[in-house]
Amino acid sequence: MEKIGKVCGHCGEPLVGRADKRFCSDQCRARSGNQRKLQDRGERLMREVNSALRQNRQILQRFSPQGKTTLRREALVQAGFDFRYLTNLYRTQKGNTYHFCYDYGYLLLEEEKVLIVSWQSYMER
Ligand SMILES: [Zn+2]
Repeated sequence: MEKIGKVCGHCGEPLVGRADKRFCSDQCRARSGNQRKLQDRGERLMREVNSALRQNRQILQRFSPQGKTTLRREALVQAGFDFRYLTNLYRTQKGNTYHFCYDYGYLLLEEEKVLIVSWQSYMER
């Protein structure tokens, strides 16, 4: 069979046979399909996480327009805040850990309360 001037979309071997061929074998076709599915799943997950992070940040900003604010944890939940997602942590010298979504963060307090803070330059390191 003749080479058709293209290579397998999975392994890169030169293709022979029909001009519209895209893979050298059924195995390569299947592997390529699986790879694509994994890729798509990753892309979808990243989009979902990115959008949850943006929403979290927006909610923190809305509840705390000028810096520090204390409120009930439930208020954030009701606004759609998703506590699973954060971008970074900041641990204070006293051992408290702030959970940040970009430039807004929160500290879990006693009695189901939350302290919202905004990112400060001294938190860089
Ligand atoms: Zn192949």
